[in-house]
Amino acid sequence: MKVPFNDLSRSATGERVAIEAALARVVQSGWFVMGPEMKGFESELAEFVDARHAVGVANGTEALQLAIRAADRGRAGTVVTAANAGGYATVAARSAGCSVRYCDVDPDGFLLDPRRLAGQLDEDVTVVVVTHLYGRVANLAAIREVIEGRGIILVEDCAQAIGGWNSEGRAGGLADLATFSFYPTKNLGAIGDGGAIATSDDALADALRSLRQYGWTERYSVAIEGGINSRLDELQAAVLRTRMPLLEAGNARRRDIIRAYADAAPSSVRVLPADAGHAGHLAVVETDNPRMLADHLAEDGIQTAVHFPTPDYRQKAWQDLSFVSRMPVTEATVGRILSLPCYPELRDEEVRHVCERLAEYAG
Ligand SMILES: *Cc1c(COP(=O)(O)O)cnc(C)c1O
Repeated sequence: MKVPFNDLSRSATGERVAIEAALARVVQSGWFVMGPEMKGFESELAEFVDARHAVGVANGTEALQLAIRAADRGRAGTVVTAANAGGYATVAARSAGCSVRYCDVDPDGFLLDPRRLAGQLDEDVTVVVVTHLYGRVANLAAIREVIEGRGIILVEDCAQAIGGWNSEGRAGGLADLATFSFYPTKNLGAIGDGGAIATSDDALADALRSLRQYGWTERYSVAIEGGINSRLDELQAAVLRTRMPLLEAGNARRRDIIRAYADAAPSSVRVLPADAGHAGHLAVVETDNPRMLADHLAEDGIQTAVHFPTPDYRQKAWQDLSFVSRMPVTEATVGRILSLPCYPELRDEEVRHVCERLAEYAG
């Protein structure tokens, strides 16, 4: 049996009729950019995450870039973030003209550790980006407590956690700004690229609507520096609207898969737990020799991946980062993780197959 790490044709085929109807609606309307589908999706997303505004953009990285730009307000300040979340926040911060500084993560869930954040703050810091990594919603109340009174803007990266929640509420409504990606493999995926930013701050929302379109306040009138062209197109917005109602059932299925893996795993493999509010984006395990586990599973046709193999501060392109403090947890975990197949269309027999092979792993 082959178990692919992802198979987007399954959802695309299953939802073909609805997707084609959405696409046909846009084609017939003749309105392809900044039209009623994007506006409709923006209000549905804002309502879903309990924010006053959502602003559709072209992808999740530009959502981060524009969120950082709107928050930094031209100060070229420092963005503090974790180094284990794929580098997107670093790409975005640098595109926004900011410096980056890293904060270590906690050993349980590998999210930015509020206990280590204070040591990274000074007057240069204008923005903190917290990623809800793998679908686990971070404790932003603890983060807010640390940054309180410093004028720092908090951004939550919800690219892996749409639909997730914690005791405070749903991801996307917990910080000053929240960013989303609708890359096809995300929990809410487009059939191409897409992204969005949510906020309940009217001024930030106005700035974002200008920044995503050249810095215009009205047509051909550029009022804000730093604008780009980053729009969510009508075709993608229409597809996202048809898929939005499926999101929560999909997330529940993802959580069930992660729990099945946790029940089956031997003591040498720790499956990162999926509690009730977990969005279940990735099924990540921690083990001494992830390569050996990957090879063991690959022998039985099971594909795996690593999220993510290289901390940002060790990326070749970013060796100018002048100062990186010790990151013991990031360093210790980066060579110990492996992601197993996890998506709603995974079949029961495939989940069982992964569980059986996992259970017999001796490593
Ligand atoms: C996918 C992802 C992004 C980037 O989204 P794109 O739409 O691919 O630009 C940002 N942050 C995280 C945590 C992601 O997983």
